[in-house]
Amino acid sequence: MTSAERTWLATRLPDLLADLQALIGCESPSADLAAVRRSADLIAAVGSRRLGVAPELVEVDGCSHLRWRFGTGPNRVLILAHHDTVWPIGTLLEHPWSISGNVIRGPGTVDMKAGLLQAIYAIAALIEQGEPVDGVCLLVTGDEEIGSPTSRALIEDEARGCAACFVLEGAGPGRSLKTGRKGTSGYRIQITGRAAHAGAEPEKGINAGVELAHLILTIAGMGVPEVGTTVTPTVAGAGTTTNTVPAAAYLLVDVRARTRQEQDRVHRSMLELAPTLPGAVLTVLGEPNRPPMEVTSGAALFERARAIGLRDGLGELQQSSVGGGSDGNFTAGIGVPTLDGLGAVGGGAHADNEHILLDELLPRTGLLVGLIREVLADKAVDPGAPS
Ligand SMILES: [Zn+2]
Repeated sequence: MTSAERTWLATRLPDLLADLQALIGCESPSADLAAVRRSADLIAAVGSRRLGVAPELVEVDGCSHLRWRFGTGPNRVLILAHHDTVWPIGTLLEHPWSISGNVIRGPGTVDMKAGLLQAIYAIAALIEQGEPVDGVCLLVTGDEEIGSPTSRALIEDEARGCAACFVLEGAGPGRSLKTGRKGTSGYRIQITGRAAHAGAEPEKGINAGVELAHLILTIAGMGVPEVGTTVTPTVAGAGTTTNTVPAAAYLLVDVRARTRQEQDRVHRSMLELAPTLPGAVLTVLGEPNRPPMEVTSGAALFERARAIGLRDGLGELQQSSVGGGSDGNFTAGIGVPTLDGLGAVGGGAHADNEHILLDELLPRTGLLVGLIREVLADKAVDPGAPS
């Protein structure tokens, strides 16, 4: 960061805080499409004021996303943020906006309205200093917290061919950047047995509940915790009345894996499941839904961030690998180098003590400025050139 930039950013801090307070005051639970629309309108107004240009409003199945595109390259950088939160309308009454010393509280601060504003201010910093932002796209989606059903295609289309994707989710432990996120898969297994009277002739039944018990143990054994693969039976049910051999049972399974290879291995094992009881029938539904963000995807970008951090006084930045997914899983999944956790430093995402640290807002914004500038300045890679 140049000293001019440092000064520029410092003079904008009051604006940034005022914008953040306004965004936190506009509650935006993912499931409430009208609330998400109000939030999108507010962010469009705030962003237009700071960036000097209005976004495109992209509505998919009623969900409001925003897209700012600045030119077309030669290098392209995608910056990802989301404006929905997990908090229902009315949460503000219990957990109001507050600034106390270095701590800012409010629903959606760390996840991720502060990060969203850091992205807007980083791009504004470049624009106002007359630096090129040609090739930058800022995509602000409205359904990340429910798995991005309407934005996934939009994200992947925008990411394709980009030199880098920066994700503004909150920082990891110890203010780390996130280079790894596990992939997730979900399954539902239906077990069909045969009913019979539990007193009169239980031997004529096929007990779907007993089959379920075998299955739970088999499936729990598919995990390999040493490499980060967890396979967790989570919800189950069997039977109808206390005196009937259960004719049906079901089981839900949550799978997390650090690598695509492990995610695929578990998937194959799930499809190959065979019943233990003679005559029982298994139906396995489900598949991988978020691919893993493998550590290799963001390794080079992390090294870059680390160097910028050392140069700009952010100290030695660490990287972390986490279990939860983000939209970074999708961009990494299609092969775009992805660095996540660039947003606010704080804690309590999805929890009552959600907060961010005030004194980290500007340094993190400066870090993003540096990363965008460096990637745009790289010699453009011509995908058609012989190597
Ligand atoms: Zn988030």
